[in-house]
Amino acid sequence: MSDDARPPARLTVLSGPSGVGKDSVIELIRLRAPWIWLSVSATTRRMRDYEVEGEHYFFVDRPEFERLRVGDQLLEWAEFAGNLYGTPRGPVEARLREGAPVLLKIDLQGARQVKAAMPDAQLVFLAPPSVEELRRRLIGRGTDDEETIRRRLAHADEELAAQSLFDVTIVNDYVERAADELVGLLSSPVLTPAQPQPQA
Ligand code: 5GP
Repeated sequence: MSDDARPPARLTVLSGPSGVGKDSVIELIRLRAPWIWLSVSATTRRMRDYEVEGEHYFFVDRPEFERLRVGDQLLEWAEFAGNLYGTPRGPVEARLREGAPVLLKIDLQGARQVKAAMPDAQLVFLAPPSVEELRRRLIGRGTDDEETIRRRLAHADEELAAQSLFDVTIVNDYVERAADELVGLLSSPVLTPAQPQPQA
């Protein structure tokens, strides 16, 4: 296949309610599918104990975030549970140009913005096996205070209701299975509408 005939690299967005296990799925992909490029977001949220600057997020203050936003350096951004999150535009565009599959782990507001800006993006919703299981995971993970858990649960209801906007739903019943399914989607060729054939 010539370079020109190679299918374009695919941008995939992974969304789903807080607590559904997006981070666990991403960790497995990091280990098992290193050819998939994971975007690193900027956030004003405080760093959790296990997080590494530049690997999980770029931790910035509000003025720095504003500078990025106003300078059009974010592909999308959103406020979530009192903190700002955004995807740095430059690295995503560079990786797609190089032909690498790119994965963004962002919230519903961000997924909508990406779809509007890049209609070919593939939107994947990671769903919990049940709403009860989601509540249990969110309360059990112990990283957030009571008020933050309340806000994340309220947001989760909204995210679950928006599932129909997505191209594909993956149920996170077993993290290994869910990660395999996602890698499969990222590796499949991009479906483009049929082009009119030239007349003989
Ligand atoms: P957490 O604080 O648990 O790491 O993330 C909270 C939410 O923000 C998650 O739903 C996560 O997907 C979303 N998020 C992380 N980075 C971004 C980003 O760059 N843009 C948007 N829109 N959401 C993000």
